[in-house]
Amino acid sequence: MKKMMQAIQVPAPGAPFVLASLPVPEPSTDEVLIKVEACGICHGDALALEGNYPGLTYPVIPGHEVIGTIVEMGSLAASFWRSGQRVGVGWHGGHCGQCASCRRGDFWHCEHVRTTGLSRNGGYAEYLVAPSNVLVEIPAGIPSREGAPLLCAGNTVYAALKKSGAQGGDLVGIVGPGGARTSDGSNCKEPWLQDRRPDPRKGEGRPGKTLGGPPRHRYRRGGRRL
Ligand SMILES: [Zn+2]
Ligand SMILES: [Zn+2]
Repeated sequence: MKKMMQAIQVPAPGAPFVLASLPVPEPSTDEVLIKVEACGICHGDALALEGNYPGLTYPVIPGHEVIGTIVEMGSLAASFWRSGQRVGVGWHGGHCGQCASCRRGDFWHCEHVRTTGLSRNGGYAEYLVAPSNVLVEIPAGIPSREGAPLLCAGNTVYAALKKSGAQGGDLVGIVGPGGARTSDGSNCKEPWLQDRRPDPRKGEGRPGKTLGGPPRHRYRRGGRRL
């Protein structure tokens, strides 16, 4: 087991990334140590660079779309996970289990919520430590590099579709660029709709009003088949 690891750190708000050599972190009783195989890059990582997020602590290792293998764990975590299991860690980096939100099962709004790569170290590193109750098991058929973005961007689209009530074969519109757009291939069958800014030369919309124009100016196609 290595004692030191390479990691990309943000030393302070507004400071650029730094490649650092750091001690491999040790898991507490309810945590696991994961050897990182892949970590997606998300716009959310920019929050660590800019310092625009509550609860940020520096220096911080960004990255919240992580897949890797469990190599060590605490005694409590060993009740649920085993060494060698391939797992994923997403945006949600931990909750207290005690506050009113947690007792309602609403861990997302925990008063002491932790966020991977923002308020605790993330996956831009050879290893990371994560609480055992935020892990998901990664099926063998999903390669780590392809699966990692599903932990944030993919899950964003999947969760929205699940709550929408849409059924297989329904036509849906997914509004939002970036990772959510590129990773929704796992959820939908047809190519993603193309977003397109209005072209003032064609009398479409006005500069500075990109988001205010009628939908026909914003999209070439109207949705995507589930
Ligand atoms: Zn993200
Ligand atoms: Zn809580």
